[in-house]
Amino acid sequence: MNKSMCLHCNNSNFETKNVRFSPEIKGETVDVVAPAFVCTQCQTPLMDSTQMSILRRLAADEYRTRHQLLTSEHIIKFRSALGMSQSAFAHYLKVGEASIKRWETYFVQDVVQDDHIRLKCDEAYAQLNALEVRWKNSLPDTFSGNKRFSLELFKQAVRYLVTSTNSALFLNKALFYADFEHFKRYGTSITGTRYIHLEYGPCPDQYQNLLKHLLNERILIPAGHHTFKASKNAELSFFSDSEKEVLAYIRQLTHDGGKKLLKLSHEEAAYKQTEPLEFISYAFAKELKI
Ligand SMILES: [Zn+2]
Repeated sequence: MNKSMCLHCNNSNFETKNVRFSPEIKGETVDVVAPAFVCTQCQTPLMDSTQMSILRRLAADEYRTRHQLLTSEHIIKFRSALGMSQSAFAHYLKVGEASIKRWETYFVQDVVQDDHIRLKCDEAYAQLNALEVRWKNSLPDTFSGNKRFSLELFKQAVRYLVTSTNSALFLNKALFYADFEHFKRYGTSITGTRYIHLEYGPCPDQYQNLLKHLLNERILIPAGHHTFKASKNAELSFFSDSEKEVLAYIRQLTHDGGKKLLKLSHEEAAYKQTEPLEFISYAFAKELKI
């Protein structure tokens, strides 16, 4: 800390120490220990904004723990496990993004909000649990496009892209291109899906199980021989601006039903340089031909 003076004794030497504080949260006093600069002469603490943030978060979490509310860390873990950004999570919970940012730090959610977060996350976990896909809980890596798989985002991407592709064959290629194109432009996939080299092109691994799940959950409904339609429109608000931009770009490339992308997908390095049944690294994205 530079050139600050102690407010008590005008000394300008400080050292960082853990200090006990007793701030008041919602009318209750909580005890926390937080790092602060302390005057070497009279021990008066002086805090910078980072230390203040830590103190506020610790105090809020102490209160939350006392009242059996989710702590900031719980909320971050709940959201991360669903593969959602703060913005996607906000739309999923139907609250403002600012609320998520505050709940993940210093602002104590009320009991109704706490119940709502638990309920919505339980629903999402139950769905994820029912999904029979090996890698659904894997950590992000080069085969997931540096992103954790999000069933919610996958569902919305399917709803969006199936309107022009109509069948698993073409839909699978559109998903591949959307995830890989976003990786090429921004360094992450959109859905965190892992793709595999199959006879008829790059395809989400275990897509039969994904498809079965989408049909069971009535995200997709059969519309004829091997064709599907979405039961309702995609919630595009779950996606970031860059994700929406890439999804729109890919959907516009499938106005022929996806035939062009299907053909092109067999020409991709992602396909030609991988073996049947092998996972496809997103590193191939930089050579995409679209
Ligand atoms: Zn002092």
